Amino acid sequence: MTLEPVTADDRAVIATQLGREPRALRAIAARCPSGHPAVVQTNPRLEDGTPFPTLYYLTCPRLAAAISTLETTGVMKDMTERLSSDPDLAEAYQRAHESYLAERDALDPLGTQVTAGGMPGRVKCLHALVAHSLATTPGHNPFGDEALALLTSWPTGDCAAVD
Ligand SMILES: [Zn+2]
Repeated sequence: MTLEPVTADDRAVIATQLGREPRALRAIAARCPSGHPAVVQTNPRLEDGTPFPTLYYLTCPRLAAAISTLETTGVMKDMTERLSSDPDLAEAYQRAHESYLAERDALDPLGTQVTAGGMPGRVKCLHALVAHSLATTPGHNPFGDEALALLTSWPTGDCAAVD
């Protein structure tokens, strides 16, 4: 994983992507092929101290839209069901949860085991899981990896053609 400092240009692009000023920005964790931020690492607390457990936040609207479309296919229900029948998968997902928590706790312990995306027991948000996969390397989050592999419009589709 390579965390890059957030430049003024990045901050402006992220504000456009989100349609609001970004909060608790810490670093750029991944970029789209076109070069704009795709995933940011955020501080475990917002500027006013409110806990913000989502350590990796997906910012690219085109990638987010592609994932939303994937979510409508019911793939998350299948993924969750496989956790109870595939111990290796469940173990890998548990490790993803633990590494996410360890990274966040190293920055600022929130005193909660809640991570993101439904980890470790369920699959509730593929945006969060894909963000984790993109922020790390393949093998860190099995369902984030799977979801990325299922996306047909990224990274070679619309997103790559724009900045
Ligand atoms: Zn993008």
